[in-house]
Amino acid sequence: MKTYKYKMSDQSNLIRLGNLIDDVHQVHAYFHRWQRQRYKEGLPYANYAAMCEHLTECKQTTQPHWNALPSQVLQEELKRIDAAYQRFFKKQGGKPHIKPRHKFKSVTFRAQAGWKLSDNRITLTLRKYNRGKWRYDRVPYTFFKHRAFEGKIRTVTIKRDTVGDYWLFLTTDFTDTELLQPTGESVGADFGMKDAFLTLSNGEKIQSPQFLKQSLKALRTLSKSLYRKVKGSGNWWRAVRQLARLYRKVSNQRRDWHWKLANDLCKRFDTIVLETLNIDGMKRLWGRKVSDLAFYQFVEMLRYKCQKHKRQFLQVEQWTATTKPCSNCGYHNKDLSLSDRRWICPKCNLHHDRDINAAINIKRAGIAAQSGVI
Ligand SMILES: [Zn+2]
Repeated sequence: MKTYKYKMSDQSNLIRLGNLIDDVHQVHAYFHRWQRQRYKEGLPYANYAAMCEHLTECKQTTQPHWNALPSQVLQEELKRIDAAYQRFFKKQGGKPHIKPRHKFKSVTFRAQAGWKLSDNRITLTLRKYNRGKWRYDRVPYTFFKHRAFEGKIRTVTIKRDTVGDYWLFLTTDFTDTELLQPTGESVGADFGMKDAFLTLSNGEKIQSPQFLKQSLKALRTLSKSLYRKVKGSGNWWRAVRQLARLYRKVSNQRRDWHWKLANDLCKRFDTIVLETLNIDGMKRLWGRKVSDLAFYQFVEMLRYKCQKHKRQFLQVEQWTATTKPCSNCGYHNKDLSLSDRRWICPKCNLHHDRDINAAINIKRAGIAAQSGVI
């Protein structure tokens, strides 16, 4: 599966996409409330088919304007609600919650109907009320096709971001493979907070780039200026959009840098070993800096890249001891605290950098687990 992202051109009928997203959100909220109400009244859970039936009723009685929405999109939304409840019943997920309007950002066409694509134009089949009847209304949209896509399209998603721009996501069944020359090298990597973003077992420290820090500083300045403005005023809204645009820039810069880093690692190493991240534990320890650094996003990118280039991607168990044992003699340094960046092994007298030592242990543990000699 590969997803391609295109920006929609600026066009007057984008407003209809905005309305479409808001209306589908209304359906989303309605059906969640409806399920809760049924539960309160002691009625059994209504599955997907029952929800579809109720949707038809609603269209005929209380919610006639839902007729204007593409049925494929509504079915997809009902399927999502059903999936959320099924997960909840199987205790695989929490209680399904209603998304607030500003967090409901996209609509998806999963079926091969409801849209038509030709070159840089996608035509969506909406409906409108005309001469006493709901009729199909085909609305064309153009987008910037900056690259061609490969494979067969599985889903079409339209997304509105916080800046107010619209994006087209085409998910295709295409699997990307590109073989690289084997290098015979393997590496372990440790995520860090203090010294570097990533520390490699060969002693290399990869810092997160300066431009990212500069943008983060500008982000703080802007959000301070936002808090000084009167909420809801014209100036406040302008600052909101400015802030959203800057957030988008930062996340694009970070994403770009992560891709390049993942690419670089794949080129240089045959086997890459990482820790399994314990994000919740890290958050408790370090606060919101974790979400800034977006380790998780990077791990997913690296996994994808390794798959594409047929590199071996290993993750060691979350509770594998990696920081405390000495990578040279195996001595377990119980007294090592979080603030000790450097230490000397009392047994073999080797000087250790905390992160490099951990990276070496991660590499060793990963490769041992792989060959079954733990
Ligand atoms: Zn030692």
